[in-house]
Amino acid sequence: MGKIAFEQNQHPKQKPDQSKLGFGKHFTDHMFIMDYTDGKGWHDARIVPYAPIALEPSSMVFHYGQAVFEGLKAYKTSDNEILLFRPDKNMERLNKSNDRLSIPAIDEEFMIEAIKELVRVDADWIPVEEGTSLYIRPFIIATEPFLGVHASHNYMFIVILSPVGAYYAEGIQPVKINVESHYVRAVRGGMGSAKTAGNYAASLRAQVEAQESGYSQVLWLDGIEKKYIEEVGSMNVFFKVNGEVLTPELNGSILDGVTRNSIIALLKSWNVPVVERRVSIEELFEAHANGTLEEAFGTGTAAVISPIGELNWDDKNIVINEGNIGELSQRLYDTVTGIQRGTLADTLGWTVKVEK
Ligand SMILES: *Cc1c(COP(=O)(O)O)cnc(C)c1O
Repeated sequence: MGKIAFEQNQHPKQKPDQSKLGFGKHFTDHMFIMDYTDGKGWHDARIVPYAPIALEPSSMVFHYGQAVFEGLKAYKTSDNEILLFRPDKNMERLNKSNDRLSIPAIDEEFMIEAIKELVRVDADWIPVEEGTSLYIRPFIIATEPFLGVHASHNYMFIVILSPVGAYYAEGIQPVKINVESHYVRAVRGGMGSAKTAGNYAASLRAQVEAQESGYSQVLWLDGIEKKYIEEVGSMNVFFKVNGEVLTPELNGSILDGVTRNSIIALLKSWNVPVVERRVSIEELFEAHANGTLEEAFGTGTAAVISPIGELNWDDKNIVINEGNIGELSQRLYDTVTGIQRGTLADTLGWTVKVEK
């Protein structure tokens, strides 16, 4: 597009030790910014040094929470190529989130080019050690200085980059999950299918309480009947029951995960039966009781696959696959990460090369 201004960072930072990256703690030398003004549209796309931004305390995002975000990753392959994983899906979803929060749409193709350009500028920051990657965080915030309630007239679209470590420093560890029967994350008609800050704010209380009781996350039930499974933490969720893979159908309160979509496509390509439908928590505990609950795992960009080793629902506790990662879960993890890093053939055409 050639419409992105560039200001080089004259004070590049020292890069962190690749073996101690953690997640979301380090940021690269540059960021992408673009402004939106009513009547003018999105304008002034630029890549500038990573730095604090100045906002009016009256900026609407601080008061009414108009904020959406995305998360995707860039990988360096063993032949020094840079790959993105399905960035078109992220930009498409960003526009769906924008629509739900009355934020103006962005040009998806332009933004993929902008992300590529930013990744090229900070390519030296992409870690290469096993399991590491460059996490890309695009987000949009409402910046109009105004305390009345309406959709903001001004916005900022920012993209920041963070080199991240292997999600599982000691190999994949199945986690203990508490089924949340009091709090709800989202309801149909609400914002559950949008990737927005408010959904995360709504989820924190339950997460804190689960962690206080020794669980790493919560399994969310539907907000109306509290019977049907929605998501696990901020991941989509899958169960293998009697040879068939089940995942809650997208019902308006579940986020349409790119990893979820990819897992379903892979399973179909392997002829493993996969069904998107309502799954009740009762059905799942019954499947465990009759010995047919074989595997359970969450899916999301950060961890790809996160196996569930234990589920607690009120006073009932079940252990899945003896607390170990299941065979299919492991195969899915190896396949998705292999495609992402270019070690496996990308038969479904998911990776996008960032040209040098
Ligand atoms: C981001 C997110 C996911 C996972 O989506 P991916 O595109 O696979 O990373 C799942 N649930 C929620 C609530 C999320 O915010």
